[in-house]
Amino acid sequence: MSRPKIAILGAGYGGMMTAVRLQKEMGTNEVEVTLVNKHDYHYQTTWLHEPAAGTMHHDKTRIMINEVIDTNKIKFVQDTVVEVKPDEKRVILKNGELEYDYLVLSLGFEPATFGIKGLKENAFSIRSVDSVRKIREHIEYQFASYNNEPERRDDLLTIIVGGAGFTGIEFVGELAERVPELCKEFDIDRDRVRIINVEASPTVLPGFDEELVEYAMNLLERKGVEFRTNTMIKEVMEDGVVLGEDEVVKSATVVWTGGVQGNSIVADSGFETNRGRVPVRKDQRTPDYDNVFVVGDCALIINEEIDRPFPPTAQIAIQAAGAVSKNLLNLVRGKETEGFVPDIKGTVASLGKGEAIGKVGNKKLYGTTASAMKKVIDNRYLFMLGGPGLVWKKGKLKLF
Ligand SMILES: Cc1cc2nc3c(=O)[nH]c(=O)nc-3n(C[C@H](O)[C@H](O)[C@H](O)COP(=O)(O)OP(=O)(O)OC[C@H]3O[C@@H](n4cnc5c(N)ncnc54)[C@H](O)[C@@H]3O)c2cc1C
Repeated sequence: MSRPKIAILGAGYGGMMTAVRLQKEMGTNEVEVTLVNKHDYHYQTTWLHEPAAGTMHHDKTRIMINEVIDTNKIKFVQDTVVEVKPDEKRVILKNGELEYDYLVLSLGFEPATFGIKGLKENAFSIRSVDSVRKIREHIEYQFASYNNEPERRDDLLTIIVGGAGFTGIEFVGELAERVPELCKEFDIDRDRVRIINVEASPTVLPGFDEELVEYAMNLLERKGVEFRTNTMIKEVMEDGVVLGEDEVVKSATVVWTGGVQGNSIVADSGFETNRGRVPVRKDQRTPDYDNVFVVGDCALIINEEIDRPFPPTAQIAIQAAGAVSKNLLNLVRGKETEGFVPDIKGTVASLGKGEAIGKVGNKKLYGTTASAMKKVIDNRYLFMLGGPGLVWKKGKLKLF
């Protein structure tokens, strides 16, 4: 008898962790698991603000999939998912097709543009290794060009970051570290460089603890970051942005971090979505298909305590992967599935080298303690994925 086929699409936090858990928990010859991913590596999305600013080499974020996945147990296919045909239990790939009995959708996020004119065409986004490598190279090129232009073009040294949620704040924190180095390298006066963080809400890190927000803003302002709260980006042009109704700020670099939605392949394949995210059932299955699970940023999970969706995070993707792998094996073994409720342990945002803010349980953390905690969280994930060897190879070992 042929074994039930499980296909996992996307090797981010959700997909990789589902594969790793299945690898550990499935019986010999019990299921046939295929993991599909665009690249032959998994990357740490939560670190991407660092290579984007140039404070970390992008290779540090990459983990080769075959170093973590036992390819004797799980088949790895490097290919790009084009479409899912859930009624035919088929996945269309760029270079082939895949049939499945059970499917895990874990294709991650893409930037939400909210219809802002020119954003898609003219702004960078922090999304993948390739996207952040481009941001770093672009910024370096602007600095390198500055002293070679016939006139002083301050737009070359003006970096606009749209959105002051976690990604935006973490990115400006890294930029504030990197800019003095770039100024030294390219003979530029630091005072000429502007890092402007634009946020539509009245405050940065909306919804986060006020004291921690104040700490973050004070620290980043001291390092030269300008905040423009209560300010909408109306348009992104090739050479700058329009803020509010008519204020034009010239800038050669606009990076958008103002919101994400689920990968559009999911909605385009006909699954029910809300801003690209599937409103999953308690066991992480789609509303319409009993054999399709969703994990990570493509899933919309409601926090019943406040009747609002949980924000999409790696923390939830990793936890949900544990539940999904278990439920897949439950179905294969003819058992009932179990419900999943995220257990939020805390949130920590980095503010550059050795600085962070966070809340773990009810405890507020600042400065070096918060920064060390962030590294512990990162290392814990690596440990779960590949044991002490992976922590040693890819971890952030210097805590302070
Ligand atoms: C800068 C930054 C900092 C963050 N910090 C934190 C943090 O501190 N804590 C936290 O909990 N969360 C954080 N997040 C959010 C977190 O990164 C996401 O919630 C998480 O990555 C979601 O995991 P995922 O598995 O759904 O998707 P992803 O990790 O995005 O993985 C998706 C995978 O699918 C692959 N893929 C995409 N499209 C295709 C295709 N068509 N074909 C084949 N493969 C494809 C991609 O290559 C990728 O490997 C941060 C995000 C950013 C950008």
